[in-house]
Amino acid sequence: MNNNNYKITGRREITDSTFVLEMERNGMTFEPGQHLLLGKAGDIHHREYSIYSGTNDNTLDVLIKEVEDGEVSKTLKHLRPGDAVEVQGPLGFFTIEEEFLKDNSKFLFIASGTGISPFHSMAKSFTGLDYQLLHGIRFGEDAYDRKDYNKHRYVACTSRDESGDFHGRVTDYIRQHDFQKNTHCYLCGNFEMIREVMDLLEKKGIAQDHLHAEVYF
Ligand SMILES: Cc1cc2nc3c(=O)[nH]c(=O)nc-3n(C[C@H](O)[C@H](O)[C@H](O)COP(=O)(O)OP(=O)(O)OC[C@H]3O[C@@H](n4cnc5c(N)ncnc54)[C@H](O)[C@@H]3O)c2cc1C
Repeated sequence: MNNNNYKITGRREITDSTFVLEMERNGMTFEPGQHLLLGKAGDIHHREYSIYSGTNDNTLDVLIKEVEDGEVSKTLKHLRPGDAVEVQGPLGFFTIEEEFLKDNSKFLFIASGTGISPFHSMAKSFTGLDYQLLHGIRFGEDAYDRKDYNKHRYVACTSRDESGDFHGRVTDYIRQHDFQKNTHCYLCGNFEMIREVMDLLEKKGIAQDHLHAEVYF
């Protein structure tokens, strides 16, 4: 595990409140789905951020939403290329088991907001993965980097406008669709969404050992 300062090499605005920070990789190896503990160098406050980039990328990227009155996300928003961040990691077990990758399994990824980050890393790292990604967002503009996904696999579920692929919440989408019972389901984002989706998928016959979750807040 690495534990030191990493230089920021780039920064990309995605929406008014969401941005990607690119850091030097410093040889770090990680599994898609893992996260980092990140804070401004010298700052005592750190938070978890999933790795957004793929395992073959040169930089280590994170996708961050600035939380109103948030301590760390606000600080990170003001950092620029050349500044340093303190990084601990990689951490966590929200990863895809090797045996699932070998047996041509089907995957259902369900994210709310920046909860899409681990799935971005998985889709970039494991080309040929048979997945469908349901992204719960409020407005179509929050479909972060949707061009990076195969357009037949990505479904933007927009709750506040009709510019997505589906108008409604991810829970509405799931209620209206059927899924193969042996699908491996990965859920990431806010606790309320995860609780509701788990309940729905279990009722649709997906076994508990096929349900994996990462709660952000
Ligand atoms: C394993 C893990 C991975 C994570 N990965 C990411 C990631 O890739 N990108 C990312 O942006 N965040 C991610 N988070 C959330 C992140 O760690 C912070 O909680 C978030 O940035 C807020 O930190 P803060 O210091 O700015 O706010 P704080 O001062 O800690 O909290 C302010 C309040 O905002 C709430 N809150 C936290 N996150 C959100 C949110 N997204 N929307 C609305 N309210 C929120 C908190 O519950 C709290 O009540 C992850 C969390 C975990 C546990």
